Amino acid sequence: MILVLKSNPEKEKVDNLIKMLNDKGLATNISEGSSHTVIGLIGDTSRLPVDLISAIDIVESVTRISEPFKAANRKIHPESTIVKVTENVSIGEGFFHVIAGPCSVESEEQVIEVAKDVKASGATLLRGGAFKPRTSPYAFQGLHADGLKLLLEAKKATGLPVVTEIMNVNHLDLFEDVDVIQVGARNMQNFDLLKELGKCRKPILLKRGLANTMEEFLMSAEYIMAGGNSNVILCERGIRTFETKTRNTLDLSAIPMLKKLSHLPIIVDPSHATGISWMVEPMSKAAVAVGADGLMIEVHNDPPKALCDGAQSLDPKQFDSLMKEIKRRVEFEGKQG
Ligand code: PEP
Ligand code: MN
Repeated sequence: MILVLKSNPEKEKVDNLIKMLNDKGLATNISEGSSHTVIGLIGDTSRLPVDLISAIDIVESVTRISEPFKAANRKIHPESTIVKVTENVSIGEGFFHVIAGPCSVESEEQVIEVAKDVKASGATLLRGGAFKPRTSPYAFQGLHADGLKLLLEAKKATGLPVVTEIMNVNHLDLFEDVDVIQVGARNMQNFDLLKELGKCRKPILLKRGLANTMEEFLMSAEYIMAGGNSNVILCERGIRTFETKTRNTLDLSAIPMLKKLSHLPIIVDPSHATGISWMVEPMSKAAVAVGADGLMIEVHNDPPKALCDGAQSLDPKQFDSLMKEIKRRVEFEGKQG
């Protein structure tokens, strides 16, 4: 629900109104526009007496929001959210970032070498999976806690903040020094996991499910935000269609649509979206063109030998030339020194 206040309301009356709404268990997002103040209400407004609220003298209008997502809704929170990851790295409107690194952490040498290479090319965050959601139980499942330790070694060696996937709520303690926790496509609707992540304040990179609508995607973000964690970064990583030439179909139309519907930053993962290394660069350029706030790209020091997703991984030289193309198209913020 959105309340638009009459211009220049008395501060005391605004404070009383907000207190009354908070007392009813509703969270409020206040945005002060040049002519009007707008109060977005988040929570169950179904029993709110709309007639009585409309009758309050400082209230100009009361509008119910039809979409089921509220905290993630741009109508409630008109300004774009910028998620602060570290002092130097913020992701969101005007702050474009490239997250790069291997699909999986495989060894100390591999992850540190890739981390140094991607940093030299201009990546500002390092990715690397330690807990891997694999289709086959016989495929490499990741190095688990040891993989996280190696990723944190690479963070120490380069100063790059790290992004890595959580699969099990019970592992949360292991992620204390991780800068951004990733929820993979397969867990986008693991609601217990989302609820737990809502209780922490770390940035969460939420990937779109393989067969989920944009509304379902935003409802998953809503689960995290409803718990009080508003540091959510959306990631479009391709959806499943009838097409088989690419691993998934990169839904670039989701970028402008999600930006219209929501204030959350959204990045694109062209590696998982296409599954093909030579397609990563053209789709990265396309992602920039449609207004993405960043990219997540898989890079391996020796892609043919990768234990996971080698076919879609760039080698450091390919990544460097991609970055030159991307830098020409966007302005970078938070470059690590
Ligand atoms: C990943 O980023 O390593 C990954 C497994 O991606 P997705 O969840 O998008 O398949
Ligand atoms: Mn991968």
